[in-house]
Amino acid sequence: MRSYRHIAFAFLLIAALLVFTSCAEAAKTGSPHSAAVAPVLKVTGDVKNEIELADFGAYPVKHISYHDEAVPAIEVLAVLEDAAPEGKNLSVFFSSPDGVMAEIPYPELDSDSVLLLTDENGWIFYSERHPKQTRIKNMDKIVVCAEESVSAQKCFRMIYGEEYLTLTFGELFRANASVQTVLEGEAQMNGRTANAYTRRELIPLSEYASSLGAPVQSAALAYFWDGSQKKIELDGYLEWRGNSVDYIGKDGKSRDKDIIGVWIDAPEGSITDIASLALDKAQKGSVLIIEIDGLGLYNLLEHNPVFLSGKNVMPIRTVMPSISNVALAAIVTGEPPSVNGVTERKLRSLSVDDMFKTAAESGKKCAVVEGQTALVNMSVEQTLNPDTNNDGSTDSEVQVSALKKIKEGFEFIYVHFHGFDDVAHTYGPSSDEAQEKLAEIDAFIAELCGNFKGTVIITADHGQHTTADEEKPGNHGEFVPVDMTVPLIIFEAGQ
Ligand SMILES: [Zn+2]
Ligand SMILES: [Zn+2]
Repeated sequence: MRSYRHIAFAFLLIAALLVFTSCAEAAKTGSPHSAAVAPVLKVTGDVKNEIELADFGAYPVKHISYHDEAVPAIEVLAVLEDAAPEGKNLSVFFSSPDGVMAEIPYPELDSDSVLLLTDENGWIFYSERHPKQTRIKNMDKIVVCAEESVSAQKCFRMIYGEEYLTLTFGELFRANASVQTVLEGEAQMNGRTANAYTRRELIPLSEYASSLGAPVQSAALAYFWDGSQKKIELDGYLEWRGNSVDYIGKDGKSRDKDIIGVWIDAPEGSITDIASLALDKAQKGSVLIIEIDGLGLYNLLEHNPVFLSGKNVMPIRTVMPSISNVALAAIVTGEPPSVNGVTERKLRSLSVDDMFKTAAESGKKCAVVEGQTALVNMSVEQTLNPDTNNDGSTDSEVQVSALKKIKEGFEFIYVHFHGFDDVAHTYGPSSDEAQEKLAEIDAFIAELCGNFKGTVIITADHGQHTTADEEKPGNHGEFVPVDMTVPLIIFEAGQ
């Protein structure tokens, strides 16, 4: 009994401290709010930066007339600009926990659209110029909703074949969720039991799958922002988390955080299979691996270069983000980004061994023939090839350097051609320039293969999709079929 009293006392003390600190906070900031726990307003959805406001913070305070009184307020646009909305056709939801909300098109917000913080009704959206229905009280969320995502913006995607759908975080916020009562567990004490539940709003994945015309099937492959991939159930759910979204299993309970998207008919093969494949072939002879940067499967099929189109091409999947260093790290280690450590653009250190270490240990002479710079640190010294003839590409230098390695008797060679990716960024992946560039690389590869005896493996790090941006008509890095599907070509040369 005594110990319970101690706990109760400690609890009271903590509660008193909380009240004290929050009052002190209110006094310090001059906020009119003085309740024990300040209501928090979260600005989220399609924003670069989520913002949490417990008071007016550093935003300029002005006084407006509210119920015939002059009350302090801050402009909602000032807060939204800090949050940095992303995407096209933006609207803003002002929302309270009881489910009442108002949506206002972003361009219709002005300097008279303000936020109030009152004792009685917490955070309030207020504007004389908008309909009265917008005056949401006790708000806990302001959610920015983009109708269309822009390049590199985080969102949720679902791929089926060459089709895909995009759901922005704002769209997921207003999606039709079903409310589920989930049993979290049973607790026992003093012979008494209690069940703990949570009531969750879960968005069924299956409707999106059928809207893409996918057959009813149970499993699909999901990609996550930590760089992992996982088989999931299509009768599972999404749970909106502000400016992220989680996958929830069909039990309504098991959670995988921060999902990028679901690929319903993802290829079985992955770029992470190449390392073991190459090492396996290396046991019988020499191996030449050629990476054509930016040449996705769809880009290859579109341009159909003479030498490569004569080969058997298999579709395989790349990793996310679908960018050069992240994919290269996955190819040379055989591990997804979540395991190999290279999960984003600026990283280059591997946290696991690469295939060159294994090949070297089994006595193979290894070479990596790169362009101007090394994208990933590897166990083998990389031969760099700047554009010495100034033709705007390192491909001819890479070609000469690779030919030299073959003739010097290297047995496990990785060759990286960069030109197609560069030209596709500049002129677009479907341009004549891209077609010509690929024809040049195709001829280089034909010549390399003509001088090589052993297994040739040809692949790409990612594809490239056409953009609406005139400055950069080709790009990649996204969870879309063209970026994510890459070719795998394997054949024996010099027989
Ligand atoms: Zn690349
Ligand atoms: Zn690129």
